[in-house]
Amino acid sequence: MTCLWCFEQLANTINWQSFFTLREQNTFCDDCLHQLKRIEGDVCSRCFRESTVNVCSDCHTWEKQRAWKDVLTKNVSVFHYNEMMKQMIAKWKYRGDYVLTEGFRHVFKKQFNEHFRDIWQKAYIVPIPLSDERLEERAFNQAQVLTQFLPRTKEIQLTRVHHEKQAKKTRHERLTIKNPFILRERVNKPVILVDDIYTTGITLRYAARTLKNAGCPAVYSFTLARG
Ligand SMILES: [Zn+2]
Ligand SMILES: [Zn+2]
Repeated sequence: MTCLWCFEQLANTINWQSFFTLREQNTFCDDCLHQLKRIEGDVCSRCFRESTVNVCSDCHTWEKQRAWKDVLTKNVSVFHYNEMMKQMIAKWKYRGDYVLTEGFRHVFKKQFNEHFRDIWQKAYIVPIPLSDERLEERAFNQAQVLTQFLPRTKEIQLTRVHHEKQAKKTRHERLTIKNPFILRERVNKPVILVDDIYTTGITLRYAARTLKNAGCPAVYSFTLARG
């Protein structure tokens, strides 16, 4: 078996356990894993950014605005959005190499269980959707693939309309986009939104506000990387 990223042969691929379970564990080699940085230590209780204070300045700014106050209860992430993670996400996002996400299955599930253990059974787990145009261009929704690693819940028909590419915009422009999400049903349980990355938090907050306007009591988010 080879590493999903660098294709180096993995050591010890056959042991008695793998021999008997016959289930291939797609993964990365140690060298590649060491280049990914887990978020560890003290974090902001709201957005999971590394922080020595309980609530970081970013979150204070969000919470001070009436339109965003308490819209997103809490974000949890797994990795820092460092150079390695940037390359990996770019590869599956823009070049469709979604098999790479398999390498994160285990750690993604584990972090989810650690942080949402008391919540998820009473909640819906919902991937951030792509617009139809974007989905056609990319062929798959990375948030949807990540959500498939988590427990299955009822589907919520959250949809997204097409806007200009986020990556082309400045931070200010990204923070002033119009709400791209549409929801045509009532939601009476908490929701855990899933996405590949939390950067400014604006996309997740628009989705969260859309859900809250539809009656959702609380919205959390869970992302693979934290920018
Ligand atoms: Zn590797
Ligand atoms: Zn924060």
